[in-house]
Amino acid sequence: MADNPNPQENSLRKIISHAKEYGFVFPSSEIYDGLQAVYDYGQYGVELKNNLKTLWWQAMTRLHDNVVGLDAAIFMHPLTWKASGHIDSFNDPMIDNRDSKKRYRADVLIEDQAAQYERNGQADQAQNLLQTLGKLLESGDLNGVRELIVAEKITCPVSGTSNWTEVRQFNLMFSTQVGSLAEDSSTVYLRPETAQGIFVNFLNVQKTGRMKIPFGIAQIGKAFRNEIVARQFIFRMREFEQMEMQYFVRPGQEMLWYAYWKEARLRFHRAIGLPADKLRYHDHVKLAHYANAAVDIEYEFPFGFKEIEGIHSRTDFDLKSHQDLSKKKQQFFDNDPDENGKPYGNYVPYVVETSVGADRLFLATLCNAYAEEAGVDAEGKPKERVFLKLHPALAPVKAAIFPLVRKDGLPEKAREVLKLLRLDFNVIYEERDAIGKRYTRQDLIGTPFCIAVDYQSLEDNTVTVRHRDSTAQDRVAIADLKALIGREVSMERILEQLE
Ligand code: ATP
Repeated sequence: MADNPNPQENSLRKIISHAKEYGFVFPSSEIYDGLQAVYDYGQYGVELKNNLKTLWWQAMTRLHDNVVGLDAAIFMHPLTWKASGHIDSFNDPMIDNRDSKKRYRADVLIEDQAAQYERNGQADQAQNLLQTLGKLLESGDLNGVRELIVAEKITCPVSGTSNWTEVRQFNLMFSTQVGSLAEDSSTVYLRPETAQGIFVNFLNVQKTGRMKIPFGIAQIGKAFRNEIVARQFIFRMREFEQMEMQYFVRPGQEMLWYAYWKEARLRFHRAIGLPADKLRYHDHVKLAHYANAAVDIEYEFPFGFKEIEGIHSRTDFDLKSHQDLSKKKQQFFDNDPDENGKPYGNYVPYVVETSVGADRLFLATLCNAYAEEAGVDAEGKPKERVFLKLHPALAPVKAAIFPLVRKDGLPEKAREVLKLLRLDFNVIYEERDAIGKRYTRQDLIGTPFCIAVDYQSLEDNTVTVRHRDSTAQDRVAIADLKALIGREVSMERILEQLE
C-alpha cells in the first residue's frame, strides 16, 4: 500500500495500528465490523490506563488532605440534567453535506479552517475567524455559522462540494427507559459528564467527612456523548472515561483557586512525561453557560494541538440550580471570621473544576512514547527499532523474565525470579523464540526491564538486566532486583514532583 502523503495522518495511523497489533486498543465488537467511536482496551492498554488513573487519583486524594473520592452511579434522576442545563443546551451545531451525506460539526469545520490559516502563517486571520465563530455561537446565530462556512469556501472533504444543509442543534445525551411497563417507565440519561454525581453528593460528603471549605471531591468514571463526528481514534468517543475533581470554595476566591489548579494540572502532565513544548494552555473565548473562566490544557497530537483537560470556574451555577429544582438547600456554614471578625455564615460555594479525559491522556501518552530508532540487526543490516518510551511507572509490564534456553534448569531458575517479583510488580515470563525476538516484543509494549537468566545465573545467582531505552545490559544479583525495579517503576517518583 502506498504511504499516505500526509505525515501527520501517517503518524496517527501508525499509533492506531500499533495499539491494535500489540494489545492496547481494539475497535469495539470488531467481529461485527466494529461500532463507530467505541473502543475496547486490551491486555496492555488496560494496565496503562489503570496506571494513569491511579496516578491521577493519588495526585488528587493523597497530595491534597482536603480532596476525597467518590464513585457515583451512571444513571441519575432525570431532573439532574434539567438543573445542569444539559437537557436544554448540551447541543452541538451540526451540518450535512447533501452530496456525500456526511455529517459534520459546523464549529469544527471552521476551527479546522482556522488551524489551516495558522499552519500557513496567517495567525491573525485564524484569530479573527475564531472570534467571529465565538460570537455567532454565543448569540445562537446558526444561519450566521452556515454563512461563515460558505464565505470561507469550506468544502466537504469527501465530496469536495459546498452543497451544505442549514446548521441545526443536536443534543448529545443518550437516553433510555427505566421501569418494565411502558406506563411507569421514565426517560433516564447516560451521564454526559461525571461532575453532576459530585454536585448532588456535595452535602453528603461535606457532612459525613466533616469537610471545611475549601475542599474537593474527585471521581473517575464513564461518560457518554452522542458525538456528531467521532474522529481521531480514542480522542473522540461516544463512551469514554473522565477524571473530574470539583473544588468547592468561598465565593470571591474562585479565581485564586482557578489559578492554582490551572498550574497544578499542567505540572501533572509534565510529571507523567509529556514534554513541555507539546503542552499549552488555550483560554476559552466562548464560555460555557456555567463558567466565568475556562482554560483547556492542550497536547500536540499528530493531528495538532487539542484539548486533553478543561479547567473551569463554574461559579455557583450547578449547586444553585440543584437547590432551586430540588428545593433542598445546598449551603455550607462557614465559621471562619471575615474581615469584620464575624463568621462568613451560610453560602452556596463556588466551584473550580478540573476535568481530564482518561482516554485522551492515554492517547497523548501513547503518541509521546512511540519511538522509532535507526539500528542494525544481528547481521549488521540497517533495521528500525520501534519501542514505547513510557515512563516506567506507567508501563503496563514492568519486567519480562526470560530463560536464555529452554533446558538445563534455566526455565526453573527463571520461574523462581518470576515468583520473587510477581507479588510486587506486573511481570511476565517468556521462553519461546530467540532472545532477540523476545526483547523486541517487550520493546513494542514498553517494558522497561528484560531479565535474562543464563548459565551463570545457576552458579552465582545473578541475571542480566536489559534497559529498554538504551538497550544496555547490566549484571545484577537476583537479590537486588526488587529494589532496582521498585525504585524505577514507583509512582512516588512522579508524585514527589507535584508536592
Ligand atoms: P471537546 O471540545 O473536545 O468536545 P469538551 O470541551 O466538550 O471537549 P469537556 O466537556 O470539558 O470536553 O470534558 C472534559 C474532558 O473530557 C475533555 O478535556 C476530554 O479529555 C474528555 N472528553 C470529552 N469528550 C470526550 C469524548 N467524546 N471522547 C473522549 N474524551 C472526551
